[in-house]
Amino acid sequence: MQTHILGFPSIGKGRELKRALEAFWRGETDVSSLHAVREALEARHWAIQQTAGLDMVVCGDFSFYDRMLDATLMLGALPARFAPCAEDTPAARYFALARGHVGRNIPPLEMTKWFDTNYHYLTPELEADTPWTPGAHPVLEAVRRASAQGFRPKAALIGPFTWLALAKARQGTDPWPLLERVLPAYTALLAQLAPLCPLIQVEEPVLCTELLPDRAAALFTEAYAHLNAAAPGKIMLTTYFGPLTRHLPLALGSGCAALHLDLTRGPGQLEPVLAGLPEGMALSLGLVDGRNIWKTDYARARAPLERAVSALGPERVLLGSSCSLLHCPVDAADETDLPPQVRDRLAFAVQKCAELADLKAVALGSGADLLAANAAVLQKARAHPEAVVPAVRKRAAAVTPDMLRRTAPAAARRAAQDAWLKLPLLPATTIGSFPQTASIRQTRRAWKNGDLSREAYEAAIRAEITYCVQRQEALGLDVLVHGEAERNDMVEYFGQQLGGFCFTRNGWVQSYGSRCVKPPVIYGDVYRKAPMTVGWSVYAQSLTSKPMKGMLTGPVTILCWSFVRDDLPREQVCRQIALALRDETADLEAAGIRIIQIDEAALREGMPGSSAEAAAYLQWAVDAFLLTSAVAAPGTQIHSHMCYSEFNAILPAIARMDADVISIESSRSGMELLDAFARYDYRNQVGPGVYDIHSPRVPDTEEIAGLLRRALRHIPKERLWVNPDCGLKTRHWEEAWPALQHMVAAARQVRAEL
Ligand code: GLN
Ligand code: ZN
Repeated sequence: MQTHILGFPSIGKGRELKRALEAFWRGETDVSSLHAVREALEARHWAIQQTAGLDMVVCGDFSFYDRMLDATLMLGALPARFAPCAEDTPAARYFALARGHVGRNIPPLEMTKWFDTNYHYLTPELEADTPWTPGAHPVLEAVRRASAQGFRPKAALIGPFTWLALAKARQGTDPWPLLERVLPAYTALLAQLAPLCPLIQVEEPVLCTELLPDRAAALFTEAYAHLNAAAPGKIMLTTYFGPLTRHLPLALGSGCAALHLDLTRGPGQLEPVLAGLPEGMALSLGLVDGRNIWKTDYARARAPLERAVSALGPERVLLGSSCSLLHCPVDAADETDLPPQVRDRLAFAVQKCAELADLKAVALGSGADLLAANAAVLQKARAHPEAVVPAVRKRAAAVTPDMLRRTAPAAARRAAQDAWLKLPLLPATTIGSFPQTASIRQTRRAWKNGDLSREAYEAAIRAEITYCVQRQEALGLDVLVHGEAERNDMVEYFGQQLGGFCFTRNGWVQSYGSRCVKPPVIYGDVYRKAPMTVGWSVYAQSLTSKPMKGMLTGPVTILCWSFVRDDLPREQVCRQIALALRDETADLEAAGIRIIQIDEAALREGMPGSSAEAAAYLQWAVDAFLLTSAVAAPGTQIHSHMCYSEFNAILPAIARMDADVISIESSRSGMELLDAFARYDYRNQVGPGVYDIHSPRVPDTEEIAGLLRRALRHIPKERLWVNPDCGLKTRHWEEAWPALQHMVAAARQVRAEL
């Protein structure tokens, strides 16, 4: 039974890669120092795997920016706009694709969330004139370095079907005939890798999703015959983030040497796989969860492992992480500040490697003491009083269907709200945050470090709120916000105030490129200790006669952007968060805040790829939003904000959320997506973003007016709001101010035409 992981985080325990990249981008170091950091990190990570007792080390998991980009460069599928970079150094070209080229005004490849994770990949773009000039893939050199250092390397690369399925085809290009262009580069690479490694991990998570159209599935078997011919007996077809269901026959018939399953996400697939596994195919069981920070329950993982061993014999079984460990932090050894019942349960990437070796011993019958020690730790943690708070459980169990329904239908609510709001047509508002200036950051830092008293801190935040409200009045916005100066982040602010949450010291994970996030940890039952936002909103409302929007992060987003305990279903955790937020909604309303926005930025990305899982998810996710919002009286206007533009698949869920107003990202899609809302017959009010806040560019009035006129083709004037794509916290006032002036002017101009 061979053990392996699917990937180790690239970023480094001390975020060495982040520092190296940013120094290089600032021009302080040259490319050789970047390579030196890569080689040092790789060697360190291989040593960790070997020391833990794994039978292979993974190569090709390390990337300077993103592994999809590495595959794109291997294929030479560079969009035409990068042609001016052709003569640049490889590093300059690589980072131009990742980050854009400022001097030449070339925008980067678009970033998209990697399946249902919080990691972003760079989207391949396919155009009619894509050059397909293949280049090197970093995996080959990595495998050579690993071998030279005495490690046993397993190569890892993203597979051709996943690459193509995630590519964005422009100008009506059909991606699937392009498989012919893609396969030769893959076969050439595989032929080079085959003599160098015992196993090659070709990752096709797309097999666990609905992203493969039938015409693509029809190409799979023949394509894999070519790939296997290039690397006979070496390919491990690797799936993760869901069970193999619809595409199980493709996987079983692929002719690959091994098949990897994510058994943390799809335990039920083991039996059908065992029933159909061809003689010559080995099976890799992903039983150590690459997506969480918790110790594996050995007793639970043992059963499927022993089942596979008894069915196939230990030689045909591999044991691995469920997916790459990219999604969990590097080393839990430093987390000495956490409460013991949390600390004792932690397993980050380093610890997960060791767990695989432990589990192998357990499965092969020599790990009785390991099993007992593991059971003792988990039992102790589960018995801790914070794990189960009876009042929270009781309340969650008592949720009734009427708590998930507003007390009046949308039309009656509309009338009750219009009666006091008296807004003009096309009301103008913002999404919540205003620029986080140096002074705001400094205030927050001083408060965190204890250099500022509570009184002084609150006075400073109130001053920021005052400034923000005055600016909004000067702009002539119709519905105001307090500006979110007290938050640096949508989730941390709430996590710090809720019971059941804690924060790691060094639990960083890569979000994209050099950007890392440190998600809060949900370790116990979640409850609200006191109102969290009411004071700020009430203060802001006291400064203006315009309506003030209260601002909450929704339960699904808080869930998706945290590390969630694994001893309670996510649905239950989400419900607890929703109940805590429901009290906040009620308190805001009672304090006179009668517009409340509940942001669900992560609702779409948290949706699993497999359709059965997705349906179940949307059911409880929307229920959680309703539990948070439906406590509001009919006259209170509930807003929600979602910053993405792919709504087609989830419009029924959006409609079921029944928010009085939703704001969405749409400026970059030129209002096209509103067509889907119109076709779906979406009845509530919609605020399509009319300007892209991701860019410092300031759109002019005519451009915004044009977008509004286009929006009016899809959404009737009585139901259209005017707002930016998202919050303005990353912008400077010098950009936000003129852009909002133009937005308000455009709203007035188009209003006058109605
Ligand atoms: N209210 C939040 C803000 O304006 C929303 C951010 C988001 O959706 N990502 O910053
Ligand atoms: Zn947003």
